[in-house]
Amino acid sequence: MEEQAMSAAMTAARRRWRPNGTRPLPSADEALRQPFRAFPSWFLRIECERCGQVRMLAEPRTRRRDMLVGDLLADRHEGCGGRAAKAELRSTAERAGGRPVRRIVLRAA
Ligand SMILES: [Zn+2]
Repeated sequence: MEEQAMSAAMTAARRRWRPNGTRPLPSADEALRQPFRAFPSWFLRIECERCGQVRMLAEPRTRRRDMLVGDLLADRHEGCGGRAAKAELRSTAERAGGRPVRRIVLRAA
């Protein structure tokens, strides 16, 4: 009984994936159901299907960090109205200091 309650409490706890953490990354489906803030300091890279422009949303500078990653992806590109053709979460914007970039491919064209 007690064990069940504890496990439920752990599930309810906010989950976080740090950019340099060792925690196994979630699947794309799971990542899409998380708020952006579950990936502190990560980048969301979105490539527009229509104009091809690449947008990088930085989690700390995104006002809508509480939105689900999937909902952020559902937004159409301002101006051209295109959908996200490709999208992925990246732990860093660039490969820096030889540190591997952790990434979760959310949508592949
Ligand atoms: Zn566009």
